Amino acid sequence: MSNMAHETVLSVHHWNDTLFSFTTTRDPSLRFKTGQFVMIGLEVNGKPLMRAYSVVSAHYSDHLEFYSIKVQEGPLTSRLQHLKVGDTLLVSRKPTGSLIIDNLKPGKNLYLLSTGTGLAPFMSVVRDPEFYDAFEKIILTHGVRWKNELGYFEHITEDLPAHEHFGDLIRNQLIYYPTVTREDFEKQGRLTDLIESGKLFEDIGLPPFNPETDRIMICGSPSMLKDLVEILEARGFVEGTSHAPGDYVIERAFVEK
Ligand SMILES: Cc1cc2nc3c(=O)[nH]c(=O)nc-3n(C[C@H](O)[C@H](O)[C@H](O)COP(=O)(O)OP(=O)(O)OC[C@H]3O[C@@H](n4cnc5c(N)ncnc54)[C@H](O)[C@@H]3O)c2cc1C
Repeated sequence: MSNMAHETVLSVHHWNDTLFSFTTTRDPSLRFKTGQFVMIGLEVNGKPLMRAYSVVSAHYSDHLEFYSIKVQEGPLTSRLQHLKVGDTLLVSRKPTGSLIIDNLKPGKNLYLLSTGTGLAPFMSVVRDPEFYDAFEKIILTHGVRWKNELGYFEHITEDLPAHEHFGDLIRNQLIYYPTVTREDFEKQGRLTDLIESGKLFEDIGLPPFNPETDRIMICGSPSMLKDLVEILEARGFVEGTSHAPGDYVIERAFVEK
């Protein structure tokens, strides 16, 4: 068996000029844990051009979904943004990644802190009932510059609470906290500032970060990750790994050039 599956694109949705999502068929043999990423790509000049992508779809879904940036000069996404229904997508058969529940100690509240396409793995998390069994509250934050970068906004605020199987879990346990930095919006500012000032906790009605009760998953821009890790470590949070579960886990969603 080849180490890559050839999947067929089933749908493509452009959120704006810089972001899009797409779904593909899923090889039934592909198993992944909620929060993991795979390598996906296209054949270019007879060779696979692959990049890491978090899986957006739930682990039990019969299709795969991805949420992507469009980098105009980017080797992969300058091409990927032109995907059409029926095209072929290469998908590696080895999911991996640190944003998995096994890497966290048990806790009360789970914070999912994301910027930009860092939302992707958390869309899979918020649709996994195992997480609602494990935590009392799940707080999904999404920091973006412009309102039209809030991908999945309607899905989170309208479709999920109405979901026939787990809508009640969403309504009772999920707190969605989108924030915008460059234009007026209900919640404004950088996530790190909202955490440091305590505004995030005031808004959601929970106490400030405490390693006794809170577990944290982080995915997004390198600058956010760096600032957040400093904040967390100053408060006594310890990073979890596959060898030793901890209080927080991180995925570096891309490397800044
Ligand atoms: C573990 C992991 C998971 C990832 N998951 C996703 C995902 O779910 N969705 C996604 O779009 N990308 C994701 N990425 C980034 C992805 O692998 C590619 O970098 C991205 O698709 C751009 O590919 P490219 O070949 O067009 O340009 P690249 O040469 O890979 O990147 C060019 C430059 O674009 C910028 N950039 C790259 N990706 C992003 C991004 N996501 N947001 C903002 N700026 C970016 C960086 O400055 C980068 O140096 C992930 C990366 C890692 C390491």
